[in-house]
Amino acid sequence: MGRVLLPFLLDEPSLTTAMRWRLVDRLFVQKGSLLAGAAVTIATGVLAFARSLEPWLLVWAAAIVPLTGARLHLALRYQRQMAGRTAAARGPVEIVTPEAWAQRFTYGAWAFGALWGAASLVLLMPGHHFEKMLIIWAQAGIATGAVMRNHVSPAAALGQSLLIQLSLMLVAIATLNPFYAGFSVLILLHIATMRSTARHLGAQAIALLRADVEKTALLDNLNRLNDELRQSNAVLSALSMTDDLTGIANRRRFFARLNDDWYRCRRQGMPLSLLLIDVDHFKAFNDHYGHPAGDACLRAVAATLETTLQRSGDIAARYGGEEFAVLLSVEPDGAEEIARRVHDAIATLAIPHQRAPGGTLTVSIGIATVRPGPAATPGRLIEAADRGLYQAKRDGRDRSCFGEVSTTARTADPRAPRQPQGIASDS
Ligand code: GH3
Ligand code: MG
Ligand code: MG
Repeated sequence: MGRVLLPFLLDEPSLTTAMRWRLVDRLFVQKGSLLAGAAVTIATGVLAFARSLEPWLLVWAAAIVPLTGARLHLALRYQRQMAGRTAAARGPVEIVTPEAWAQRFTYGAWAFGALWGAASLVLLMPGHHFEKMLIIWAQAGIATGAVMRNHVSPAAALGQSLLIQLSLMLVAIATLNPFYAGFSVLILLHIATMRSTARHLGAQAIALLRADVEKTALLDNLNRLNDELRQSNAVLSALSMTDDLTGIANRRRFFARLNDDWYRCRRQGMPLSLLLIDVDHFKAFNDHYGHPAGDACLRAVAATLETTLQRSGDIAARYGGEEFAVLLSVEPDGAEEIARRVHDAIATLAIPHQRAPGGTLTVSIGIATVRPGPAATPGRLIEAADRGLYQAKRDGRDRSCFGEVSTTARTADPRAPRQPQGIASDS
């Protein structure tokens, strides 16, 4: 019947079920105002009775107790159902849709409105001005409060308000007092104001709800996009540090690590060793076996370097062309031992190289070790390893040689090796 007489906001066709539940939530969160309504009723009844000694006022006030009890029970049932427990277990009839819950709430609001409408009978009592003033004042407050609080269900809000105000108007007319008839015109004005207020608040409630739902959807979308962005950034960052051909660290990653390790070793007083590894007679290898075979050979060498390094802090990188770099925090003995293992591992690979003196692929290695301090720089470490490599080539290849790290002021060196980029000097 409520749906015929007065619209439910819930009937708004564009609302999703989730939005309708949120509107109903707002009807049932007001247990405090139910208790306040009951307190006002009892206080009004007791005050009016104390002054008039009319027993019906006490009976009237007492009726609020079972009514408020029933409304509170409904609110608690709703809360329990929302907390995931079944409504069926708690009440005689299962209430499953938001509309059904709003309808139950509306019946309670109407009963409250009817009770306060009945209080209008006080107008029929001759005299009793205080009681009339008291009840009309409370009626105005309750009719207004209903619209303010329950506007998400116009049926509940306006229904309760109308039951109070129309009863007051009818009783005012029934007094046949011309002044009371004038008063009923004011009541009509109040009704019209309440109706437009309810509409306005209802439209605002829906607009707010929509904005909130849209905001949540936008935030969800934003979070998802952020996650995707983070993931692709991680992939891109890994790719930018990886060598395409061999899949091991590239030159950029090598220099980043050299920089980091330099300062770490300097802080901890640890040595830092560099191995520059160059494939011997690789141009001839390419010429003889072809470029694709050369690529496969570089991949095999890279994989061998990675498996030769056992400590997680060590790094093997492709330095450029057929040259690789290995960075380790070890003393010269340790570096020499790793270089020996690299030679052994490459020998075990036994890649045929008909244009090399030994018939298989070999590498030459330049080794340099430094204890990072103010007198040396990462660039000097690379220069030293490069000198070692040059020496190894000159001594006949397939061997390792140490290069001395220079700590003196720089002089022009015609054999000066490539300068590393992006390395801060610590001196
Ligand atoms: P050495 O023993 O003195 O080092 O002689 P080498 O022939 O190895 O040195 P050189 O610098 O003369 O030649 C290096 C060759 O490495 C030339 C180049 O074609 C080859 N190279 C560089 N990068 C790649 C690559 O990515 N793939 C292949 N297949 N070859 C490469
Ligand atoms: Mg080379
Ligand atoms: Mg070479």
